[in-house]
Amino acid sequence: MAQHTLAGEMTQAGVGLHSGVTTKVRILPAELGKGRYFVRVDLPDAPIIPAQVAAVNQTLLSTQLGKGDVCVRTVEHLLAALAGMGVNNARIEIDGPEVPLLDGSAQIWAEGIAQVGLVCQSSEDEQIPAIEHPIWVRQGDAFVCAVPASETRFSYGIDFDLPAIGNQWHSCLFTTEDFIRDIAPARTFGLLHQIEYLQQSGLIKGGSLENALVCGPDGWLNPPLRFANEPVRHKILDLVGDISLLGYFPQAHFVAYKASHNLHIELAQKILDLI
Ligand SMILES: [Zn+2]
Repeated sequence: MAQHTLAGEMTQAGVGLHSGVTTKVRILPAELGKGRYFVRVDLPDAPIIPAQVAAVNQTLLSTQLGKGDVCVRTVEHLLAALAGMGVNNARIEIDGPEVPLLDGSAQIWAEGIAQVGLVCQSSEDEQIPAIEHPIWVRQGDAFVCAVPASETRFSYGIDFDLPAIGNQWHSCLFTTEDFIRDIAPARTFGLLHQIEYLQQSGLIKGGSLENALVCGPDGWLNPPLRFANEPVRHKILDLVGDISLLGYFPQAHFVAYKASHNLHIELAQKILDLI
């Protein structure tokens, strides 16, 4: 696989889901081999936070990167868009602590990247390591695994008591086309009975019916859905963003069931340790 960066720059502003803080993100081309990395341009000396597994410092309801007080939160949808669109190297400048949630999906990021276009940075095909043996992590009945496969694929299952969600599975190949069509538009979802608790815990300050699907006992509060199984597709979006912190996607079939950012990152760490 050749490496790519953006052909130009793009800017997008919006509110962060948990902090409720409005930030502006500017994504710029980066040199070959630099990877994807954040720059907190609002702080003295503009500290750099690499989008790598080693930089993950919190996984409660979103994936947070950083060191000490310097962090950037809810990176998963933007990182999924970059990885899904094939951007290996990018400088992501942000002027606050959390990536904007936008419409709750990766669609706006993916469309922006498509509009700017990519440039190829290496002509030679680089060997992508393949997963040779199943690698898995589990917690209760939730698990995430990477299984040897002839092409990279993501499959996910979720199971909720709420009838509007219920048991859902989705599986797709990891190609740019599949990502744009089937995964990028899938929005964040939340459960009505958890919202009050999360708000009391100081979370989801930027959440609203405009940027997250909310499900109650009687169904969705803000239909229509973009896909009948939009929630599980969003889980694939989160998984793609989290696994992208490896810096590349090893050839494998990634399968997850009832997992969370915490388990996604645990699998990524285990892959790093083993291959
Ligand atoms: Zn998400």
